[in-house]
Amino acid sequence: MTQNVLAVPSPLLSVDEALRLEALDRLDILDTPRDPAFQQLASLIESIFDVPVAIISLMDAHRQWYKAHTGLANEEAARPDTFCKHVIVSGEHMVVEDAALDPRFRDNPFVTGTSGIRFYAGVPLRAREGEVVGTVCAIDYRPRKWTARETQILSDIAAIAMTTMELSRHVATDDLTGCVARRVFMEESNRTFAAARRHSHSLSCVTFDLDHFKAVNDNHGHKAGDLVLSGAANTVRSALRESDLFGRVGGEEFAILMPQTPLQGALDAAEKLRSALSSSPIDVGPQKLNITGSFGVATLDRGVSDFAALLAAADTAMYVSKHEGRNRCTAAPQISDRRRVLKSGLIIFQNRSSTVDCTVRSLGEDGAGIDVSSTNGVPDGFALRIGPELIEKRCRVVARADRHLEVAFLP
Ligand code: GH3
Ligand code: MG
Ligand code: MG
Repeated sequence: MTQNVLAVPSPLLSVDEALRLEALDRLDILDTPRDPAFQQLASLIESIFDVPVAIISLMDAHRQWYKAHTGLANEEAARPDTFCKHVIVSGEHMVVEDAALDPRFRDNPFVTGTSGIRFYAGVPLRAREGEVVGTVCAIDYRPRKWTARETQILSDIAAIAMTTMELSRHVATDDLTGCVARRVFMEESNRTFAAARRHSHSLSCVTFDLDHFKAVNDNHGHKAGDLVLSGAANTVRSALRESDLFGRVGGEEFAILMPQTPLQGALDAAEKLRSALSSSPIDVGPQKLNITGSFGVATLDRGVSDFAALLAAADTAMYVSKHEGRNRCTAAPQISDRRRVLKSGLIIFQNRSSTVDCTVRSLGEDGAGIDVSSTNGVPDGFALRIGPELIEKRCRVVARADRHLEVAFLP
């Protein structure tokens, strides 16, 4: 990973990549909950082509995120290692009949490592405006032949996947948890925000994320994971007011909009929810699991120009709760105008000799929220270059989770 970053401009920070990420942002599907419709498409690929691995994925700046897959242990992969990045860049389908014989892939960790991939066929997943936002692919652990007709079938499945993504934006409630879906939550919240501003009413937002939820899936299976999600949502819902709007904004991330509620009221409410969650073990069949959540609270004040900024502030506070040990509530100190974005970034450190690709998810005058494949090895101070304008900021980490950093910009 040592390179002179000034001499080697990263293609990930290019204008083309920025346009691609904007299309992905408009689709608003990254990190959304598991969905049987996509799972069925992945299973269809598996059975039509008789392959052990099928993936329907979106590619952000630093990783390939699986909307659905069969046959894999993880939910995402670091972008530099993926076969799919070639499909993203070329915009064309790609077939690798035997990766061990292909100079582009024979040293790839997915080929040489325990996963031992030998065969790959992938087609682009195109948003309506033509941008390639992801891929649909079939993978095997043995070499095989592939026909043009098979590429056509895979492309047809990709087209169905894209239509399904567009249709899924109109779903109002999340089946599993009964919460309002992310898009509806955002729309309703925008309206409530505007009204609160106009009438000078108080308004607060609480976000929470379940702690160590990946371990629930890993140790007890996805069915148990789903039971935990619906159980946790029920516990929280029964402690909320009728006027609160409860949304599922990510896989295991939730947000609550609390109209007519000032900061202290929202903090008290968050504390009540935290305590209810941690004292209500969830029945997953053979046993009951103790679940906790990390909460962030933010309230409307003059500095906040839209609801997205309020939500971003609550999220930043939620990450501080994670950082400080989880199962706690944190209030956003003073709210600056953060925007939710989807931009490529480059973390630069060690005298500019080391870099890590990242995706900038929120951005303001005073700081940013950054996703990475792993925060291991990233120091507490670094420079962040943000594309495509190549703005560079000196940063200090204020909170870190496994795959997320919250940073403050230094003057
Ligand atoms: P942390 O305390 O730092 O939040 O750790 P974590 O393990 O909860 O966080 P992480 O974000 O790494 O893991 C979230 C996991 O949630 C990953 C994903 O597989 C899982 N997940 C997302 N949506 C669903 C779903 O609908 N059902 C199930 N069972 N799991 C889901
Ligand atoms: Mg999470
Ligand atoms: Mg979590």
